[in-house]
Amino acid sequence: MAVSATPKKESRKEPHVVIVGGGFAGLYAAKALRKAPVRVTLLDRRNHHLFQPLLYQVATAALSAGEIAVPIRSIVSRYRNVQVFLAEVTGVNLPDKKVVLADGELSYDYLILATGAQTAYFGNDDWKELAPGLKSVEDALEIRRRILCAYEAAERLPNGSPEFAEYLTFVIVGGGPTGVEMAGAIAEIARQTLKNDFRTINPVDTRVILIQSGPRVLAEYHEKLSESARRQLESLGVEVRTGPRVTDIENHEVVVGDEVTKARTIIWMAGITASPVAKSLNVPLDKGGRVLVQPDLTVPGFPEAYVVGDLANFPHQTGEPLPGLAPIAVKEGESAARNILRTVAGRARRKFHYRDKGSMATIGRGSAVAQFGRFSMSGFPAWLAWLFIHIYFLIGFYNRIVIIFRWGWSYFTSNRGARLITGALCQSPLVKTPDVVPNDSQHPSLSMPPLETDIVEAIETGAVAANGAALK
Ligand SMILES: Cc1cc2nc3c(=O)[nH]c(=O)nc-3n(C[C@H](O)[C@H](O)[C@H](O)COP(=O)(O)OP(=O)(O)OC[C@H]3O[C@@H](n4cnc5c(N)ncnc54)[C@H](O)[C@@H]3O)c2cc1C
Repeated sequence: MAVSATPKKESRKEPHVVIVGGGFAGLYAAKALRKAPVRVTLLDRRNHHLFQPLLYQVATAALSAGEIAVPIRSIVSRYRNVQVFLAEVTGVNLPDKKVVLADGELSYDYLILATGAQTAYFGNDDWKELAPGLKSVEDALEIRRRILCAYEAAERLPNGSPEFAEYLTFVIVGGGPTGVEMAGAIAEIARQTLKNDFRTINPVDTRVILIQSGPRVLAEYHEKLSESARRQLESLGVEVRTGPRVTDIENHEVVVGDEVTKARTIIWMAGITASPVAKSLNVPLDKGGRVLVQPDLTVPGFPEAYVVGDLANFPHQTGEPLPGLAPIAVKEGESAARNILRTVAGRARRKFHYRDKGSMATIGRGSAVAQFGRFSMSGFPAWLAWLFIHIYFLIGFYNRIVIIFRWGWSYFTSNRGARLITGALCQSPLVKTPDVVPNDSQHPSLSMPPLETDIVEAIETGAVAANGAALK
């Protein structure tokens, strides 16, 4: 299906601005153009804007997907000059000023390219299936499914089974903000949310292992905040392993040098790379695939084409590229939009400048670290700051209210209400089903060999430590 370049009012002569990507950068660019004398087409391959900073909360069953994703169409419904197309962009023809779609093409006068980033496995694409990353709603639901399925499978294992430890071990690869958040949240699920829900297993026996290559987690934060994050994680029961990088991921195994850790749930938080659309521009990219933009965020040699957000490498402020953060994407999107309006009005474009608003990562209920320039904080005050800033940036009044309520509820009850297993069915770990559903009781362990034998075997095999609660 070809897409018309002048979809609505053919007679309109306003310049046509095409925005690719309805993420933070694209959406705020559209907002900045909403009352301007330009015609805007906003393209995205998804119909929703995703609030990625809270994606880990969907992956750990604290929030539902609909609470952090909003239809793009509804967000811009009041912007009369903005039209939304659901479309996959495969490339951009800069000399001809055309966006190439999977099913057509679209001409533009000005372009704002904001297709963001995707999970990177650094040449180990076979790890993708074994250790999903977290970038989309689908990823979050798959991780949630794997976490919940692991507990369901462990509950069906015979007492003393050596597989217990594997099912109750969760490895998170990557100790950046999202890895830290994920590790803290899984530890909380185990120790608080699920503690009364199972009969065979004791979720408190869960091991959460966070592997970070290099000397410390949250490497881009001040050293003392990294240390604080490590302590807060450890107080939740997370094993933090820093040092060498992961060398291999096999089915149910993570390998770091000579050390093999067996785990049924492995989550990849160790890297992202720019959206592949960047390659089609045929301009210099950095090693992460990002476009090396000019000081005004335009593509070298193409003053009408802007690249913003996670797709852009903007080194002009500090000599280092600005990090991939939502507030930076927002400001870049707005800046590109304003420069387009300046050009339309016959004025000169301005350089982009970002005022650092700081960064923060939450570690669990009531603990976080935050860094605002030279000022930093950790623990409960940082967590409160994290909470309010995330509520503030959330899109949609309904979502804000629902999430305030949900967070309040789970803060006081430790409950995570979105513990639904969706997608593929969980695989049972058992060979013999009759062992699991005894005739004489609902309790699986009663159909097993006599309890005493179990205990002796478990002690002999060393399973007692990993499975202590089942023997109580
Ligand atoms: C799990 C996670 C947690 C994060 N936590 C934080 C945090 O706490 N604080 C923070 O500041 N930042 C955080 N970030 C980073 C932040 O989300 C990004 O910096 C920000 O989303 C970048 O905005 P963007 O507009 O460049 O890209 P995105 O928001 O990723 O938007 C890109 C858009 O482009 C669309 N798109 C992509 N390819 C195509 C295509 N070929 N055709 C059509 N459409 C396409 C996508 O569907 C998407 O809507 C987090 C990111 C992740 C993944």
